Amino acid sequence: MARTAVVRKINPQQHMAQPAGSGRASTQFNVFTQRDLGKIQQLNKLPEEIRFEMQVVSSVLPFRVNEYVINELIDWNNTPDDPIYQLTFPQRNMLAPEIYDRMAQAHRNKLDAESIKTLAKTLRNELNPHPAGQMQMNIPQLGNGEILNGLQHKYRETVLFFPGKGQTCHSYCTFCFRWAQFVGDKNLRMSTTEAAKLHTYLAKHTEVSDLLVTGGDPMVMKTKFLVEYLEPLLRPEFNHIQTIRIGTKALTFWPQRFVTDEDADALITLLERLVNAGKHVAIMAHYNHWRELSTPISHQAIARLRNTGAEIRCQGPLLAHINDDANVWAKMWKMQVKLGMIPYYMFVERDTGARHYFEVPLAQAWHIYRDAMQQVSGLGRTARGPSMSASPGKVEIQGITEIKGEKVFVLRFVQGRNPDWVQHPFFAQYDPQATWLDQLKPAFGEKEFFFSADYREIQQARKVA
Ligand SMILES: *Cc1c(COP(=O)(O)O)cnc(C)c1O
Ligand code: SF4
Repeated sequence: MARTAVVRKINPQQHMAQPAGSGRASTQFNVFTQRDLGKIQQLNKLPEEIRFEMQVVSSVLPFRVNEYVINELIDWNNTPDDPIYQLTFPQRNMLAPEIYDRMAQAHRNKLDAESIKTLAKTLRNELNPHPAGQMQMNIPQLGNGEILNGLQHKYRETVLFFPGKGQTCHSYCTFCFRWAQFVGDKNLRMSTTEAAKLHTYLAKHTEVSDLLVTGGDPMVMKTKFLVEYLEPLLRPEFNHIQTIRIGTKALTFWPQRFVTDEDADALITLLERLVNAGKHVAIMAHYNHWRELSTPISHQAIARLRNTGAEIRCQGPLLAHINDDANVWAKMWKMQVKLGMIPYYMFVERDTGARHYFEVPLAQAWHIYRDAMQQVSGLGRTARGPSMSASPGKVEIQGITEIKGEKVFVLRFVQGRNPDWVQHPFFAQYDPQATWLDQLKPAFGEKEFFFSADYREIQQARKVA
């Protein structure tokens, strides 16, 4: 821990003492949603038409952005191209033209709020709110027995936990595949038995070594709830839980969570206790662009987390309009390494919501990944990818090559429903347009992929069970 010397505990009082309106170091969490669009000063300088488009799009897709993001991360002289603006503010083309037109018409006709809501529901259903076999937090999915009351157990050694109070975020990403949960009922309450259920499940499943707490963003929760979930894991019956990961974008959207929030110190203490008791604690930080790493407060938050002995691993999707540029990734990975973090994954954006706006063909994704990798040192080359979190597992594009005259994608599972699939290379016909695993066809005239029959059996077994 060579960084120890530079890390100091920050006295939250000192930061609170900043004069209001100084524009820097805002410590008060202020958030804007669709109905507050008119209150965002910076938007008033944009053309009326753009503001109307935002109203329309945010009637369908979730919108939430806080003052820190607006004041300190977005470069308002560079809209609409600014990556953080694209990351958080709705753009017309995020909706398919016919969906946009229907909602725009409703606004022009000045329909009442209730009718707009009803139309929004209809339109959302056309946006694939529930991508194949993946994380559905609110609705325990029928025919997919893995998800029950906030728990998902897809890969043998890892359990995902979605705490009820962590199903929101400090701001929303415009590309988020979890968007369906943000626009649904806000009736989510943490059930008093939620922690008990988690602990009962984990105590029984000794094959599980990793707990991954995710959301939304679990860091929107007060520390006292995180304590309730995590501290019991120090008991001997949880010795098999060696690793506790917490997925978060708070290092981007609200780094104050770790520095100046009133329970920031308690959070740091919780992490320290887990580490000192021998758990590997990993903060799975969601990053899309090096600009998210550009503020002093974000550096303070990273340093404080690192000082607890927790690792910070960085992951995020590749997105048109935000980071479809090898130089952006190379610079981001270099900055992450410099700040003591570990690049972990480059994801391929999945097929829901505004995907058509953000999607990057797999072939292009691989070129970006490779060109970025070539620019960084070995310590930056820990990022796997580009990786698709598909229903059978996480599939990485390893390369594009030619074998006996046929141009192919070389693929492998980095995670699989069947652990036997992992690291097994396989091949698909090259297709420059393909954007997802289900669009790929086996190479060399084979009828199906090596895992297909096995996967059908797994699906079948699950339906019967
Ligand atoms: C990515 C993922 C995990 C964790 O996989 P690792 O390869 O261990 O990082 C666990 N469960 C699900 C559903 C995932 O998508
Ligand atoms: S932080 Fe994560 S869960 Fe929250 S909106 Fe962004 S991608 Fe979605």
